[in-house]
Amino acid sequence: MNTIAFIPSIIGGLIGLDIFIDDKPIDLGKVTHILPDLGCIHYSVERLGKYDCPIYTCSCGDAGCGGIEMQVLANTSTIAWKMSAPLQFFYLFDYEQYADAFETYQKGLRHLLEVRRVKCTERPEYVRRLLEPL
Ligand SMILES: [Zn+2]
Repeated sequence: MNTIAFIPSIIGGLIGLDIFIDDKPIDLGKVTHILPDLGCIHYSVERLGKYDCPIYTCSCGDAGCGGIEMQVLANTSTIAWKMSAPLQFFYLFDYEQYADAFETYQKGLRHLLEVRRVKCTERPEYVRRLLEPL
């Protein structure tokens, strides 16, 4: 079983997220044109089943453009990420640990916004949705 951590940031007014797996930054090798898709990650915490979900998207915002083929497989005890292109990887997480990691991300993001008052230029409804309780 792998472990995951989501680290929040606000850089240039934009909300970001870094992914650590087994305490190390996720290794994307030479693939530099893909970024985590925060909306999709949020969605993956709440949805069970097997579905196409680009946890990563092209840096232009269009997962199709990035040639990304990725599935999420989730049940009540585990959640897996399976990417077949442009990289091949398979990670299996404990569902509770995954959900806790996302809640920790939300707390960290709330801290940046509300306590440290980092300037954020994202749409307010997008920010509200990211911070919605799981
Ligand atoms: Zn693109």
